[in-house]
Amino acid sequence: MNQVHAPDMQDLLRQLSLDFANQLPHKLQEIAGLLQQHRVENAYGQAVFKLYRLVHSLTGSGATFGMPQVSNFARALELQLRGLSESDKPADAALWQAIETDFEALRQAAETAIAQLVQRGTASVAESMGEAVAGSNETPYDSNALPSRKVVLIEDDESLVATLSTQLGLYGYQVVRAHSAADVNRLLQEERPLAILVDIMLPHDINGGFKLMQGIETQLRQDVPMIFMSARHDLQARLEAVRCGADAFFVKPLDVTHLTDLLESYLADKQQEACRVLVIEDSQVQAVLYAETLRQAGMQIETLTDPIQLESVLNRFMPELILMDMYMPGCTGDELARVIRQQEAFVSVPIVFLSAERDLGRQLLAMTAGGDDFLTKPIEAEHLILAVRNRVKRYRVLRNLMERDSLTGLLHHTKSKEKLDIELARAQRNQHPLSLAMIDLDLFKQVNDRYGHPVGDRVIKSLVQLLRQRLRVTDIIGRYGGEEFLVVFTDTSAIAAAKVLNQIRMSFARVVQYAGDMTEFSVSFSAGIAEYPVNGIGSTDLIQAADDALYQAKAKGRNRIVISDRESEGVVR
Ligand code: GH3
Ligand code: MG
Ligand code: MG
Ligand code: MG
Repeated sequence: MNQVHAPDMQDLLRQLSLDFANQLPHKLQEIAGLLQQHRVENAYGQAVFKLYRLVHSLTGSGATFGMPQVSNFARALELQLRGLSESDKPADAALWQAIETDFEALRQAAETAIAQLVQRGTASVAESMGEAVAGSNETPYDSNALPSRKVVLIEDDESLVATLSTQLGLYGYQVVRAHSAADVNRLLQEERPLAILVDIMLPHDINGGFKLMQGIETQLRQDVPMIFMSARHDLQARLEAVRCGADAFFVKPLDVTHLTDLLESYLADKQQEACRVLVIEDSQVQAVLYAETLRQAGMQIETLTDPIQLESVLNRFMPELILMDMYMPGCTGDELARVIRQQEAFVSVPIVFLSAERDLGRQLLAMTAGGDDFLTKPIEAEHLILAVRNRVKRYRVLRNLMERDSLTGLLHHTKSKEKLDIELARAQRNQHPLSLAMIDLDLFKQVNDRYGHPVGDRVIKSLVQLLRQRLRVTDIIGRYGGEEFLVVFTDTSAIAAAKVLNQIRMSFARVVQYAGDMTEFSVSFSAGIAEYPVNGIGSTDLIQAADDALYQAKAKGRNRIVISDRESEGVVR
């Protein structure tokens, strides 16, 4: 909820509107000066472009900062000046007269607006944007908070409690048991758990789980995903679960792999990184406004008021969307869009123009330069936030499709090699260690043969979940081949990497895998590790060394880890 933040937003807008009002007389003076000069020189074409741009910026900021009349008169003047700036002959006296008249109207509108602003104490200026933000229901982003892995369990079957505690525990989930609604309410107060798992049939009551959940505050029930499980699978039970607000329904015997899949998807939802948005806008005041509006919605923002620094910001910040003004000193938005599109890394980053430009033809022109969309100033905060968020979402989906494998969500072969190259270069530069592990599932053909390919797929996913959960975010995991994975341990020696991987190896071997008919089995993996530098120094040499070590691990009987060139003392088992 953003209630806490709304006053900040109101204050900010008030402040920005005041800043704008303060600068306004100065800007009008500048415009008046240029007008006079141009009229004397009877200027036209490119010579009047600066004047045109100055007036255009008033169209946008006037609308944004609650001075609609200023914006309207500026627009009228802007249209005259645009005509003149595109003309190849000087204006006649009548046009200059019209321009003067429009300017005078603009000046008066500005005076009135400033006077009103002072009178009203600027309160209403902030309303449209401030309210929109207050009502937007955003959860403030807290970059430090790691999502909870606590799972509340309500279950009377002791053996299932034990199984779930162990199996979910292997994936890093912490199972906490509750026996009553009071228990659950208390746990919910302490730390919001990732999910609540409820058995429907409790001792003495075949609807015990439902009744218990109804004793929990509605708000809390809505906030935390609820998973019902039961030996019952009649329609009545399913309906009742839906009415209770269930997010999922599992029929016993429980398929734990399926359950961890679901929990992981809840985690992924919570771990959504903040959208990275670059705002390019020459007006400092407007840049701050858009940046703050998006920041309040939990996004990560950089602003650029001088396009000349574009290059360095792009590469450092790697924006997922660029919000761009149309007219800036030095260059226009569509020129800048072309420059951005010329770089391979940014061909698909969405570019959204934000401008007071209403001329559809010009909007279209900007889009052919590589813009993706056009938003018109003034824009409601809520609309801006939604527009940006949706486009970033789509961009992420697209990028995922291009770079990641669909079964596991891991980087695919080419992309993981690319990342290895980048990390290797970094390690060389900083003189830091780096280790590479190649992991291969043991006797995996048998798994497929016995239980079928889909079950094999689930085994692959379970390994990936475990790797994701146990490795650091800075480590890189790639799906190198079908059941072969590559892990880049940054800043880590081979010995240290082997220790971590060995823990994962032991956990994985204990994960109970389920086949369709609830047959249980387990799978192991082998791995080879090589540390940079090896005999050669390139990524190909490193991969070769790790692969050789993996081959040795297989030869020595599988379910083990071998460090390259150190097999005598390096076998960790
Ligand atoms: P080893 O311990 O020597 O590695 O024995 P293995 O049976 O695992 O042998 P190998 O690595 O040569 O075989 C890999 C098998 O993995 C062959 C292939 O059918 C299976 N596989 C590869 N990709 C996938 C996948 O995406 N899903 C499933 N289910 N199976 C896959
Ligand atoms: Mg501008
Ligand atoms: Mg293989
Ligand atoms: Mg294998």
